Amino acid sequence: MPHRVAVTCPECASEAVFEFAERVRIKSNDDLHWFEKSKHFDCLKQADPNGQYYHSAIFYHKLVGNAFPLISDLPRGYRIDDWAHSEHQFRPLSDWRGTLVCESCGKRSKHTLDWPKEAYFQIEYRNQNLWAFDRASSAELIDYICASHRRADDFIYWPFLMKIPHVFLTKQAREPVVKRLRKRLA
Ligand SMILES: [Zn+2]
Repeated sequence: MPHRVAVTCPECASEAVFEFAERVRIKSNDDLHWFEKSKHFDCLKQADPNGQYYHSAIFYHKLVGNAFPLISDLPRGYRIDDWAHSEHQFRPLSDWRGTLVCESCGKRSKHTLDWPKEAYFQIEYRNQNLWAFDRASSAELIDYICASHRRADDFIYWPFLMKIPHVFLTKQAREPVVKRLRKRLA
């Protein structure tokens, strides 16, 4: 998944943005006390694959303002950049927590993503759903479906392309599918 995806706002049904939260493992009990008291982070207790418990500090991007907060007293050994998204375009799927921001109604809250159910750019064709991560990938999807010669490597969102069921790629699907996707983009 990308770090940000377009979702349907649960309040007003407009296009909203969901952004994944990031977490960093807490190194000591003293640090844990600091993070538990901080208003900028949530703490989470989890078990690793060996059954050992550990704590993480979660930061919800865009929950308060659009930039990282200025925190002068982070415990030693942590930098606020530790909670930045990775530079990879796609993230592994492990945790669905994040922030939902809707420009239309002003909703801005923690949210657990239900994907692809909440995908804003999704259409139905012959009882199957086709979805895209966001506006850009939706536009690319249209180009891809319209193209007479399709090459998977032309498509930057190829991991998701690989999952497109054949029913959407047939000749007779082209017109209705593209029409429905365009309507969503309008
Ligand atoms: Zn809204």
